[in-house]
This record gives sequence, C-alpha cells and structure tokens, in this order.
Amino acid sequence: MQITICGGGNAAHTLAGLLGSKPDLSVYIYAPYQDETERWQEGLQQNDGILVRAPGRDILGRPAAVFRDPAQAVQGSQLILLALPAFAHEHILEEIAGYLSPGAWVGALPARAGFDICVRDVLKERLSQVAIFGFQTLPWACRIQEYGGRVLILGAKDQVDLAAWPAKLAPVISTRIGELLGVALNPISNFLSLTLADTGQLIHPGIMYGLFHRWNGQVYSEPGLFYQAVDEEVAEILQKMSQEVQALRITLEQTYPGLDLTAVRPLGEWLKRSYPTSIQDSSTLHSSFATNRSYTGLLAPMCKSDKGFTPDFQSRYLSEDVPYGLLVMRGIAELAGVATPQVDEVISWAQDRLGKQYLVEHKLTGADIFLTLSPQRYGYTSIEQLLREMEYLPIKED
Ligand code: NAD
Repeated sequence: MQITICGGGNAAHTLAGLLGSKPDLSVYIYAPYQDETERWQEGLQQNDGILVRAPGRDILGRPAAVFRDPAQAVQGSQLILLALPAFAHEHILEEIAGYLSPGAWVGALPARAGFDICVRDVLKERLSQVAIFGFQTLPWACRIQEYGGRVLILGAKDQVDLAAWPAKLAPVISTRIGELLGVALNPISNFLSLTLADTGQLIHPGIMYGLFHRWNGQVYSEPGLFYQAVDEEVAEILQKMSQEVQALRITLEQTYPGLDLTAVRPLGEWLKRSYPTSIQDSSTLHSSFATNRSYTGLLAPMCKSDKGFTPDFQSRYLSEDVPYGLLVMRGIAELAGVATPQVDEVISWAQDRLGKQYLVEHKLTGADIFLTLSPQRYGYTSIEQLLREMEYLPIKED
C-alpha cells in the first residue's frame, strides 16, 4: 500500500516513523513548504530513518521518498494524510487535488472545524472519486528532536474520534488506520459532530480571553501558566461557551430527528474522557483544569523582548482556533438561529487582537470571513442547505 504524508512538522515526523517501520507500506512525504524537502532529505541521508521515541519503546521507520512535486508525491497513493495546521489545508489540497487516485482516502490529523466544507469546495466534482476523513485531535503530543531523524512522543490519547464522508465509511476507515497507527479510533456519525466537538476552539480562545481581556500593556518578567491559570472566573467563561455549543446541539437534534450529535460532549465531560487518569478532582470545570497533571507547567503564549514578556495574540490559540474553529461553530449557530453571547464576546475581543473583522453587530458579515472556514464564507444561507449539501443527515434506506 502506498501512503502520502503531507507536511514536515512534528506530526508528519511521527507518522513517517510509525508508518515507515512497516515493510508492506511505501511511505512518501510531500513537503513543499520552505526548504523542508531538502531538510527531510538531508536528515534521512544522515540517519537510518525516523526514530520515534515513545514511552516504553522506540520505533525506527524510513519513508521511501520525499518530494516537492505534488504529482510524484501523491499519484498512486491510497491514503493521503494531511499532518498540517488547519490554515495550510486548503492550499495543500489545491496542490494535490489533480493527482488523487480514484478510491483514495484523504484525511487530516487533526481535522479542525469545517474541514469537510473546505475539502468539498476544493475538490468539487473530484470529491465523488475519493473518501475523506478527519481525526478529532492528533493522537500524540509530539516534538521533533532532530529534523529528518528523531521525534519524541510525550504522551498519547487513549482514543480519538474519527468522522468520514461518506459517513458510512467511518467504521472501516477507523479500523484500517487504527491498525496502521496502533491507535484506538472511534468512528462517529458525521463531520458536523467533529466540527462542533472541537474543544480546542473553546479552550484556547476562551482561556486567552479570560487571561488577557483586561491586559493593559503590562510586561511580565516571565511567561505565566496557561491551563493552570484557569481560575473560577475563566472556568465560568469556558462553561458558558460550552453551554452555548450544547444549546446548538440540542436545537439541531430536536429540529432534525435522526441527526446524531452525541459525540458533541460538554467540556467537563470531554475533559474527564480525554484525561481519565490525570485529573485528580473533576467535580467542577475549574478543578478539572487546576488538577489535571497533563497540563502541568504548560505556559501561555508570549512574545519575548528585552523588557520581558507580553501575550502573543498571533499565536495559534487565536490565529488557528478562531478562524478555523470557533467561527465555524458560530456560523452554524447563526444559520440555526441559536444565540451565542459568550462566544460572541470572545470573538469580538479576539478579532481586535488579530486585526481582523469577522463579526459585525452579531452577524458574520465582516470583511475577513473569507479567511475562515465558516459556512458563510462558502455562501450557505440556511441550516437546511448546509445539512443537505454536506450530507449530515442520515440517508434514508428504502
Ligand atoms: P508543526 O508546526 O510542527 O508543523 C507545521 C508544518 O505544517 C510545517 O512543518 C509545514 O510542513 C506545514 N506548514 C506550515 N505552514 C504551511 C503553509 N503555509 N503552507 C504549507 N505547509 C505549511 O505542527 P505539528 O505539531 O505537526 O501539528 C500539526 C497539527 O496538529 C496542528 O494543527 C497542531 O495544532 C495539531 N496538534 C499538534 C500536537 C503536537 O503535539 N504536535 C498536539 C495536538 C494537536
């Protein structure tokens, strides 16, 4: 089986080592970004392959080739893995679209909100020739130690949700890719669940807002904690954001019987499920953050200068999680007529910090919605249109 991994970062290195260790797979890397093709090639010349250092075991795997040319990288591959931040998906999909083989599975790890809307828009009529899938999150916390040579897995998730289009393929795709990666993948009903269940889009912008919306230019002597700085007030903001997503889920499920959004869990429940052994006290959202060992010592994104540290408002916690996360959920809520006052407050603050305009008087009509994956960007004007065209409702069998 031929597999193409698109990317050259932490996730791509982990995949290259794990999949490259299997003798029956032929693993190609597509790394057109900056000088990454050359860096991969140099690293692989100097090393026997990519050494994946995981807790309790090391795995050595070697990709067959690294390409800058999309045709060479993608033609003939049955599995295409986008191991990229969400803002790179559209561009890379445009480059590979013309070379996808009929029957190929194309997916992202992680997919982020609205991935399927973006793929449909880029592939157009080619969509019917492939299947698409998305992981809810990357299964590993991982960091490159030596480019083209060594990557460290710091921790792995117990299980990861996977959505697919056509939706009925989710179980078979989960089983096959789960076997290849040694990860428990849990098939879920539809991509809409994946979009609304993305908790990063709540946690990251929500905590950034909570910690820094009163920031007045102060310079800190050292970077502060991020997750462990969640106090009662910030937890309350996160709780309200989560409740607004749940209100949207309930409205959609009640209005459209058969639409299964059970994978869209409240934030507290998601934390318990994702960190079953790391949270000491899960009685409240505040205590779940404060006592989660997996969050120990993780710092807020900061810019360093001669004078000290200031919040980094261009970090991915805002620049990725707002346009490729929160705004997708917000756009769907607008189509469904569900109010999201707390989410709106966070977006209004974040757009000022990012220097963008998305929300104007509580409507997603700002000039920069074309730099988001919101359904409004793609011209959706009603929730029925979105559900129908994206095929989120189960297909009735005669
Ligand atoms: P990374 O920063 O290591 O890799 C980014 C890679 O994306 C680059 O190396 C490049 O190949 C590609 N890229 C970046 N900008 C591009 C552009 N403009 N055009 C084309 N390609 C571009 O990221 P990562 O750690 O591998 O993470 C990938 C995704 O997984 C991100 O969305 C991240 O938030 C998520 N994630 C990562 C971890 C982790 O521990 N690494 C954990 C959870 C989720």
